[in-house]
Amino acid sequence: MAASHRPERTIMSKQFDYITSDDPFAVCQSGTRLSPAVKCGHKDPGFFVILFGRPMSQTEGEAHQRIDTVMGRCNLADLFGSVQAQILHREGEDALKAFLAAVTHHTDASLAALRDIHAQQRDCCEAAFRTGGREHTCGRNETQP
Ligand SMILES: [Zn+2]
Repeated sequence: MAASHRPERTIMSKQFDYITSDDPFAVCQSGTRLSPAVKCGHKDPGFFVILFGRPMSQTEGEAHQRIDTVMGRCNLADLFGSVQAQILHREGEDALKAFLAAVTHHTDASLAALRDIHAQQRDCCEAAFRTGGREHTCGRNETQP
């Protein structure tokens, strides 16, 4: 784990462990939500990270399970940095460029969706999100005539 999520002037080598698993949880879908309630040692808000999938040993027909996690922003920076370093080290610059292009594609698509949800006034509370902005449990409608 890095000592800080902020860029350092001097690059410090990281501590790696040799990771193996007999039956890893195979993730097929994920969701995230920025949340000020999720904090690490730093002050930046972290994320809920929801993983959908099943253990690799289970057969295809079985229902997906859901694992709810929270991650500090520093943990996510650590994870993304490790993934990018391994792609660059093992597969080269073109593979990293392709990965980063995919990240940018998903960033743009997610941003468009977030802006749509905001324009529909569905981003303040769960009731608004699920009713297309008609109902609120956050008090938004109470302040409007
Ligand atoms: Zn609301």
